[in-house]
Amino acid sequence: MAEELNPFRISQRQLDTAAELMGLDKQAHALLREPERAVIVNIPVRMRDGKTKAFTGFRVLYNSARGPGKGGVRFHPQESLDTVKALSAWMTWKCSLANIPFGGAKGGVICNPKEMNSAELENLSRGYVRALSRFIGPKVDVPAPDVYTNPQIMAWMLDEYETIEGRSSPEAFTGKPVEIGGSEGRFDSTAMGGMYVLRETAKIKKLNLKKAKIAIQGFGNAGKFAFEIATRLAGARVVAISDSQGGVYDPKGLDYGKLSEAKERTGSLEGYKGAEKVTNEELLELDCDVLIPAAIENQITKENADRVRAKIVLELANGPVTPDADRILFERGIADMPDFLVNSGGVIGSYFEWAQDLQGYYWTEGGVYQKLDAIITDSFNTVIKTQAEYRTKGKRITPREAAYVIAVGRVAMAMKARGRY
Ligand code: NAD
Repeated sequence: MAEELNPFRISQRQLDTAAELMGLDKQAHALLREPERAVIVNIPVRMRDGKTKAFTGFRVLYNSARGPGKGGVRFHPQESLDTVKALSAWMTWKCSLANIPFGGAKGGVICNPKEMNSAELENLSRGYVRALSRFIGPKVDVPAPDVYTNPQIMAWMLDEYETIEGRSSPEAFTGKPVEIGGSEGRFDSTAMGGMYVLRETAKIKKLNLKKAKIAIQGFGNAGKFAFEIATRLAGARVVAISDSQGGVYDPKGLDYGKLSEAKERTGSLEGYKGAEKVTNEELLELDCDVLIPAAIENQITKENADRVRAKIVLELANGPVTPDADRILFERGIADMPDFLVNSGGVIGSYFEWAQDLQGYYWTEGGVYQKLDAIITDSFNTVIKTQAEYRTKGKRITPREAAYVIAVGRVAMAMKARGRY
């Protein structure tokens, strides 16, 4: 992999930029450039032909100064130690910005889950936990679902963990089915959190959401819930949405029910009647007030950032705006709200699941949303306050830079309090 595209090198460069901006202590900076622990395991898995196959698995605990590790497990053919290290660093900053009592972690297995049957996936999930049981746990490092893993996989992993430990421990994994200690509201908490950030950003930009036109890239878990919540709760109009094959645009507003029906019937959003077809590139440049990238990374770059017409970009996906584009949007007065603030509702939902399991007392969906709103709105306000503080020192920093300064600063303070430097 080219060094400039290596995700771990990218995460280190982002830290370096924040460190310079905030004048971070050199010892803290050096400690934060590398993970605390990276474990590689070789997992034997019995396959459907009766033969054993070896799979490589990873679990990286990036930093534990603020609490146990927290982060998903990905099952992906292109997984590597460097992707897992980078993702564990980003989880550290996300948990810190949300001010929840977790450090950051991530895990993964190099495999192709599309070629594996259910029994093989169960064997792999249980094998992953057997290989790593000493390095995970409710007060050590708490895994969750991520790319190509899901609540069923968490249920198998939890069952294996509890068998090894010989006791009930639902708080050892999050993203579980509700029947075994999962939380209400966990699966739309990412989009719900994003909508709270949008509500606050709209206040600052003096945008009336009830009259706003929204364009969403992506019709998966994040994009679908964002559509529903934006229209149902905020009363906004979603004028465009896309999936990997392209999208549809109607300035009068799209109907969620008809869209889901079209996707189910024809396999494509383009089956929606009465709307204009748009490509994914065109969608980003449409006449709208709010643009929500909710699909994949590197969508708004220095090539197209000048043509974005939205007043607010809400990064629900991870990494949809490149660093160059971030600056261009900022200079053009567009509020680009960073991914690790906007989509932190997911990990905040995981935190609520862990807290409920520890207490053995479960909250209603309404209770979950109320607490989510309080936490994410507080993070938002801290970002805005930090930008204002830097302005008084003569420095104009982007919301992303402000978020990094807060997140890295909190982890550094926790390390200092513990005497790590
Ligand atoms: P998903 O797999 O459910 O959906 C992804 C969507 O993106 C699909 O509709 C797919 O068709 C579309 N897509 C794929 N390639 C595309 C392309 N080239 N152009 C346009 N659309 C394309 O995934 P998700 O869970 O909705 O996650 C989307 C993004 O949000 C990811 O970046 C993910 O990391 C981030 N995110 C999701 C959560 C969550 O709770 N789901 C939490 C945090 C971050």
